Amino acid sequence: PSSLSSFDAQLAAAIADEVTRQEAHIELIASENYASPAVMQAQGTQLTNKYAEGYPGRRYYGGCEHVDVVEQLAIDRACDLFGADYANVQPHSGAQANAAAFMALVKPGDTVLGMSLAHGGHLTHGAAPNFSGKYYHAVQYGLNPDTGEIDYDEVERLARGHKPKLIIAGFSAYARVVDWSRFRRIANEIGAWLMVDMAHVAGLVAAGHYPSPLPHAHVVTTTTHKTLRGPRGGLILSASGDEALYRKLNGAVFPGQQGGPLMHVIAAKAVAFREAMSQDFGRYQAQVIDNARAMAKVFVERGFDVVSGGTDDHLFLVSLIKQGVTGKDADAALGRAHITVNKNAVPNDPQSPFVTSGLRIGTPAVTTRGFDQADCETLAGWICDILDALAAETDTTEVESEVRGKVAELCDRHPVYAKAVAEQTG
Ligand code: PLP
Repeated sequence: PSSLSSFDAQLAAAIADEVTRQEAHIELIASENYASPAVMQAQGTQLTNKYAEGYPGRRYYGGCEHVDVVEQLAIDRACDLFGADYANVQPHSGAQANAAAFMALVKPGDTVLGMSLAHGGHLTHGAAPNFSGKYYHAVQYGLNPDTGEIDYDEVERLARGHKPKLIIAGFSAYARVVDWSRFRRIANEIGAWLMVDMAHVAGLVAAGHYPSPLPHAHVVTTTTHKTLRGPRGGLILSASGDEALYRKLNGAVFPGQQGGPLMHVIAAKAVAFREAMSQDFGRYQAQVIDNARAMAKVFVERGFDVVSGGTDDHLFLVSLIKQGVTGKDADAALGRAHITVNKNAVPNDPQSPFVTSGLRIGTPAVTTRGFDQADCETLAGWICDILDALAAETDTTEVESEVRGKVAELCDRHPVYAKAVAEQTG
């Protein structure tokens, strides 16, 4: 069938509804973004049909001459963009990039040290229900509850006490600059590998607005779809110069973790890496940080606790402990006003991980659609209005409906894809 809508109206309607939601709701989930039409175009090509197990020039299938060009372009651009001398562009996701890095660096049962999920680490950094917590002996560090910043002294103490073979730095919900060199010094002292998962800040790093972990870590992993604004996927990088390690990493991705690479996604990664080299992308990333700072400032002025007091990157955490409001209720009320955020645990959170007392707010997506600091300040004010109503235990229906109307106007002023599609079709 040539047309999705005539072949499968039900599915086409669900996709159309999601497109409308993305245009008409304000997206503040820190790990989301809007990929460009060119990225999506590459993903929708015939490259989806091709099997290409192996690596460029060394495949287990015939007919790979053109996809070899595609993958090599993606590898070369990733290396250029991040100052790496090794890149593996095949991981299907961030979690699979991390699984492959673990496989290359440590053996099941070995001790690993990573940030706990509750304090902003990712599941794959040693959380109990994940492979990283099940197959490895995971020790976890966290934030200093007084400062809301990584407790490097605790990392050092745990490293000396437990002698992990691998230390993982990187996070899903941390608003400050990480001292990568301090992590490397700790790793060196005990002879451990240092792996940095820069998934959240990869776009900021590419643009030079956040310190690069490449000079410090043995291995750097990332997703390609968050601040980096590419297709959903993973990437492994290194600038260690350790050829034996590179061979192990390649073997851990294929055949260790995966079969055939997603060549259409690899093509889209190559597009995203090229986009990330532009001056526009640099300006975009600077605006992402300015917007996050502008929003965090409004929360502080309105009497909310922002973990660590502010932000240096694309996100920040609001603690609602003082207000006695749960993250779950705040997330739901904002959702009714067409503002999408996610509930998030905060330091000393009295609530369960499913309920929480915090919100994680990120600006990559709203910045892509053109919000500036003034838009972001206004938006933060609306969020505070709803949170104030929740804290006062009043009926929130009216404020939610008022904000929903203003959200619709703001979204109309900043369409996500309409302008880009018009430009592409001329
Ligand atoms: N690493 C970090 C730090 C993340 O925040 C995430 C996703 O949120 C991942 C890895 C996993 O990426 P994926 O969802 O592509 O598996």
